[in-house]
Amino acid sequence: MESPKPSIVYRYKNGLYVNLTNRCPTACVFCVKNTWKMDYRGSNLNLGGADPSPAEVIALAKEEWAAAPFEEFVFCGYGEPTMRLEAMLTCARMIKNGRAAPLPRALKVRLNTNGLANAVWGRNVVPELKGLIDSVHVSLNTADPAQWLALMRPLEPWASDGYEKVKEFIREASLLLPEIFVTAVEDKDIDTEKFKALAERLGAETRIRPRLEAPGD
Ligand code: SF4
Repeated sequence: MESPKPSIVYRYKNGLYVNLTNRCPTACVFCVKNTWKMDYRGSNLNLGGADPSPAEVIALAKEEWAAAPFEEFVFCGYGEPTMRLEAMLTCARMIKNGRAAPLPRALKVRLNTNGLANAVWGRNVVPELKGLIDSVHVSLNTADPAQWLALMRPLEPWASDGYEKVKEFIREASLLLPEIFVTAVEDKDIDTEKFKALAERLGAETRIRPRLEAPGD
């Protein structure tokens, strides 16, 4: 059977989610994009290399808003949104400066990320997010660098100092952005107390989320 048209935006709970790219600097063991065959609860998130422009994203978001308003605009798809940093910031800027009306300027804009943006771009990008991204959720998963490598499986050249770069990203975000969570996928081998303590030291709140197993979880 032919896959449905790729979804650039899709709904989940009270948010509109934006699938900006399928590129990712990690191959996390818990990622469901392969087992779910690029489907996410009925949306085909396989962009086939055709990453959308900010204008396309905002046009689709306006259509969705007209159909039913949403509470959050979330960069989160089968790929790492910050691989398209400029496109992501352009979308957010259009919302925040009123060029995406009827989307309200006050609409909460969230980034779900693996936190490797500073490593990928070779600079501290967090100041560029200020005033545009209201909330960041970083999938850090562990306080143990070796376990991070095993869980996140970063691609070269981001493996060697990736973990430290992610912690740096979180620390910077905690200083400059309104809301920062570090998340972990539930796993009996993760020391949750150490993870929470690390999050606190980095200035972030903690969220433990269930592992997705089958579509519909
Ligand atoms: S960061 Fe997200 S898209 Fe990339 S491999 Fe991990 S879970 Fe999958």
